[in-house]
Amino acid sequence: MVEAFAVASGKGGTGKTTTTLALGMALAKEYDVTVIDADTGMANLLFHAGLDDVEVTLHDLLVTDTDIAISEAVYERFGMSVIPCGTSLTAFAAADPAQLRAVVSTLATETDIILLDSPAAIGSKSAVLPIILADRIIVVVQPTVPSLSDGLKVQEYAHSYKTETAGVIFNRVRQDESVATIAEQASRYFGGPILAHVPERDVVRAARRQGEPLLAHAPDDIAASAFREAAASLEINDKTANAVANRFKSAVIPEQP
Ligand code: ADP
Ligand code: MG
Repeated sequence: MVEAFAVASGKGGTGKTTTTLALGMALAKEYDVTVIDADTGMANLLFHAGLDDVEVTLHDLLVTDTDIAISEAVYERFGMSVIPCGTSLTAFAAADPAQLRAVVSTLATETDIILLDSPAAIGSKSAVLPIILADRIIVVVQPTVPSLSDGLKVQEYAHSYKTETAGVIFNRVRQDESVATIAEQASRYFGGPILAHVPERDVVRAARRQGEPLLAHAPDDIAASAFREAAASLEINDKTANAVANRFKSAVIPEQP
């Protein structure tokens, strides 16, 4: 059973990386979960997961004709298999984003759920690939009209590649915000359910500063509970590992996204 999700949004800072690790930890209670930092140009999952001092990352796997084994970039952390990406611009320039296809298709045969922490913008090949490769997207938005509108653009893009919407997460919801109207609009336009409303909490930022995912740093906080609720309401589709691996292998990468 394998399903790959891209955690996506229109803009940076909505909480994609926070969400990827939180959903990953929650889903890892039941499934074998692999988390990949597919935001190869602006990687920051390594800082959220205490992996900023590791030697081998996804960048090394994306270099054409590399002889580094995928397993060398996989770190067992917080109950998940985590593949961080490095932050060097030179390594980003040397990496061929299309190699991500091969990496993900190999991993797909070995795990239940893949979460791809995805880039914010959709203007380049490396940015769109995770959305194209994934079965479904999880859209992370702030409960504001501009953020929603960006999220809808990402969804439109995903749907044009037959990547469906698994659900929407409202993150960084402030107490003084009236989300009811926005939530109503969102449920009308998004192709999936609203999975959770996650409040804006200082502890979420503190977790990142400590290099720990929220669910490890403050498992009892209301933000952690909201992410667990989101994971529980995700319906995971049953698929054979081979079907998914084949999908990745045959995915067409656009020259002009
Ligand atoms: P993205 O990956 O979309 O750029 P991050 O997950 O890195 O976003 O989050 C951006 C910043 O916002 C980080 O400092 C993170 O700790 C903070 N953040 C994310 N979600 C919340 C939240 N619910 N409450 C408070 N801060 C948050
Ligand atoms: Mg990020």
